[in-house]
Amino acid sequence: MSALILDGKALAKSREQQLHAAVEKLLAAGGRKPVLATILVGDDPSSATYVQMKQNACARVGMGSAKIEMPASTTTAELLAKIDQLNNDPEVCGILLQHPVPEQINERACFDTIAIAKDVDGVTTQGYGLLAMGEPAFGSATPAGIMTLLKHYQIELSGKHAIVLGRSPILGKPMAAMLLNANATVTICHSRTENLAELVAQADIVVGAVGKPELIKANWIKDGAIVIDAGYHEGGIGDIEKTGLEARVSALTPVPGGVGPMTINALISQTLEAAKRGF
Ligand code: NAP
Repeated sequence: MSALILDGKALAKSREQQLHAAVEKLLAAGGRKPVLATILVGDDPSSATYVQMKQNACARVGMGSAKIEMPASTTTAELLAKIDQLNNDPEVCGILLQHPVPEQINERACFDTIAIAKDVDGVTTQGYGLLAMGEPAFGSATPAGIMTLLKHYQIELSGKHAIVLGRSPILGKPMAAMLLNANATVTICHSRTENLAELVAQADIVVGAVGKPELIKANWIKDGAIVIDAGYHEGGIGDIEKTGLEARVSALTPVPGGVGPMTINALISQTLEAAKRGF
């Protein structure tokens, strides 16, 4: 067996062409230009790169973006005031607050101040609650991108046992909710989980979102499984060790070029959707 490569880079590229056409159509019909406001607090170089990649994607599909940069010393009150201003700016369709923010800031309070209509990165408690209930809401961008990738490759989820390693509010938890909504049987693991290897060995679908290089070992994963790796670490290493996997699993995401491009694609797709809906 040679695994099907779930090529997020190629899929994101072709979806960008569709998004570009959809933006042109919207503008030709007199609709407003989709504009994503990005907020970067502090000077973390990786965060700055991620924000730039998101802005570049907006430009590629004909959307606008507004870059807000705030110093590392920013207080919660200052950030809340900025978000409030963007919530009330009719030019802005979507708001991205780049995670993580400096530690003196109450990140949850800031995420939850983003208006639900502009929560195109899917970070609010309200959006997560709606999603968990199976109601319409913008999904958290990384799991939403993963779901688009799985759908594109017609990966069967219903009745399958999916294991999600990681329970963060922006990744593990919404990923589990989306898989559950798609009728998978879901196990969620975290740093206190016992017998990780035994649990992973039972899963048909393995999603790695632990933020630790190759913490999930290749020999834990059963033959024929679907392997989704959200991690990215220096040297192109993911959260899942890949040694020998390609020869015995049925599908896997490359690192890089799997989940990352689909995350950005979900963000800009949802920004277009927000622009179409208005508020
Ligand atoms: P995070 O907030 O640090 O959460 C990590 C999760 O992994 C936590 O729930 C933690 O458990 C769990 N964990 C840590 N060590 C573990 C262990 N030994 N065994 C089992 N679980 C363990 O990270 P995140 O923001 O969700 O990101 C996860 C990964 O996805 C990172 O590699 C990140 O770079 C990547 N990511 C990629 C994208 C993209 O666009 N491609 C976007 C976002 C994130 P506790 O809850 O018990 O602490």
